[in-house]
Order: sequence, then C-alpha cells, then structure tokens
Amino acid sequence: MRTTLPGVELCYAVKANPHPDVLALLVDEGASFDLASPGELDLCLLAGARPAGLSWGNPVKKVTDVRAARAAGVTRFTTDAPADVDLLAREAPGAAVGVRLAVGDDGAATPFAGKFGATEDEAVALLGRARAAGLEAAGVGFHVGSQQRDPQAWARGIDAAARVAARLGGHAPAELNLGGGFPTPHAGGPTPDVTACATAIRAALARHASWWRPRLVAEPGRALVGEAGVLRAEVVLVAERAGRRWVYLDVGRYQGLAETEGEMIVYRLRTPGRGGEVGPVVLAGPTCDGDDVLYRHADVRLPLDLAAGDVVEFLGAGAYTASYASVGFNGLPPLPTYTRPDTHETPEEGGN
Ligand SMILES: *Cc1c(COP(=O)(O)O)cnc(C)c1O
Repeated sequence: MRTTLPGVELCYAVKANPHPDVLALLVDEGASFDLASPGELDLCLLAGARPAGLSWGNPVKKVTDVRAARAAGVTRFTTDAPADVDLLAREAPGAAVGVRLAVGDDGAATPFAGKFGATEDEAVALLGRARAAGLEAAGVGFHVGSQQRDPQAWARGIDAAARVAARLGGHAPAELNLGGGFPTPHAGGPTPDVTACATAIRAALARHASWWRPRLVAEPGRALVGEAGVLRAEVVLVAERAGRRWVYLDVGRYQGLAETEGEMIVYRLRTPGRGGEVGPVVLAGPTCDGDDVLYRHADVRLPLDLAAGDVVEFLGAGAYTASYASVGFNGLPPLPTYTRPDTHETPEEGGN
C-alpha cells in the first residue's frame, strides 16, 4: 500500500485485526493507527505506537473516550455531528478534527447505510463550528464502505470533499482522509486490486490539484491484514436435509465468521487432503442458533468425500475474524490466533 499510495499516511484500522504481533509489526513498518476505543488505544500504545501517529476515527465517542485519548497525547479526531464537535472542544481543546462526509457506499460488501457522515452542507457548518470553538478544522474525509468493489467510489468521495473545501475558501482543510474500504480477493467475482483504487484516486485528485493539494491520509484495515490469515475449521458433521448436503464446522458465525452475515463475504475455501469431485453444500456453524449458517445461497462446493474430522480452510481470513469472535457462546471458545508458523499445526491447538 505504501508503494501504491505514495505520500499517503497509512493509519491502520485496528479493529480489522488487533493482535499485538500485528500491531507491533505495523509499528515497525512505520504505520499510523486509526482507533475507536480506549481498548484499541491501549493496544496501540503497548505495541509501541507514537501518540502523534494515532487518529481517533470513530465519530461516536463518550466523554471518557476523549479524556483517555487526550491523556495519552492523541490530538487527531474524526467527527460528524455538532454535539461531538462540542464534546471535543470541551475535552480536547485545540485538537485537530476532520469531518467525515457521508458518501455513496453502494459497491461495498458491508455498506454503512447512513450510520455515519455529514452532508456537504453539514460538513461546512461543522468545520466552521470547530474553528469557532478553538479546534483546528484540519480535515475532511469519507469512508466508501468496507470491501468496496468500485474504485470510482473514492473518486466520488474526493469530489465531494473538494466541493466542501471549495466552499471554505481560505479555510479549506489541509488534510483529506480517503478512509478504508480497499478490497481483498474473495469468492463470487473479481475484486479490483489496490492499484485500481489508487489510479481512480490519483485521477480524482488531479482534477482539483490546481487549487487544492491536501495532505493525504488513508485508513486501510482489511487490505493490510486480510490476505495474511487462514482460518482453519474442522468438519463436525455432514448430513443430508431436504435434498441438500449440510456441512457443519466447528467454527461459525460466533467464532469469528461474523462477515458471513447476509453472505456479505464469501470466503475462498480449501480442503487439504480432499481433492476429489465436489458438490454444492449448505455450510453451517456448530452452535444451536438458527442464524449460525454461513452460506445457504452462495454457490459453495466441497468434495463429496468430505467427512467429520476433515479440515476446511477459509482463505483471506486475517481481517474481521478473531476480533469478532464471541467470548463463549454455547461454551465454544473465541477464535485463537497464531502468528508464528511453527505453532499453528500442533494437534492440541489445530482444531480452529
Ligand atoms: C473499519 C474502518 C476502517 C477500515 O475499513 P476497511 O474496510 O477494513 O479498510 C477505516 N476507517 C474507519 C473510520 C473505520 O471504521
């Protein structure tokens, strides 16, 4: 990403995978961090991140969140509502704030559907309100929705941010936050790579470069860690039900496969040791919850000789898995993460 988006400060979105080894590696690589809670703040500091490289990207904050951030030396915040600007002015005077615009997130696998972001009119007003309250009205930005498959989504966001900047004239924000959303390969169709997103971003920036050359920030989560992880599940049961073959695994919606909700993300699967003929399956998790079915509609095919005890691997599962696992629904433990190749094959730990 550093090569593809040169000159862009990369703030890793910690929620994608907050494992301490992942954060420590990214600190070594010079990353900054986008965080959302005191817990993520502590993880970043423990991993050795510098406070100057921490940006509080969650526009939904408690008073105690802002106090914890300020005490740790965090001075950069994203906002999208008047009451939050007022909170920052009270609790973090002088801090640098960026306003998050609501932009179209149509091509995203997991759209925000109106949860975040200000309109362009509201953004102009929020930046004015921040400045009047003694904050640094530092930036404007957006998030095109996670696993965004349309590179033009960034171009539309940049154009919207530029319209806001133009209306602010001499007070145009000095920073543009391109957010996250950069996609990773999954089943069910081609995914643009980060280069295609970067091309669209560069073209859009060039349209405004004669009058606006903001400092650039991006907040990749999935794109930095997704391909780094494989999730290993074990087949518990194979059964025929109403003419369909159901495969039950020991990892489901509640052990880290939250992004299978609505079949938003369809992982590429691998079945080590089973290479024969394949057939369609319904893929389900192990718990007693009716929602714990991973894929019922997606075209998932697994070897016909698959049986209890076999391994099914989910590829590209380094993002939004372990951090989503429940603490113990139905008595099943949260998903363990192994960051060293020599530890993940041991029989006692190999189940998931
Ligand atoms: C989750 C999140 C990101 C990362 O999104 P990805 O789709 O994983 O790249 C970036 N910014 C904010 C504010 C987020 O909430």
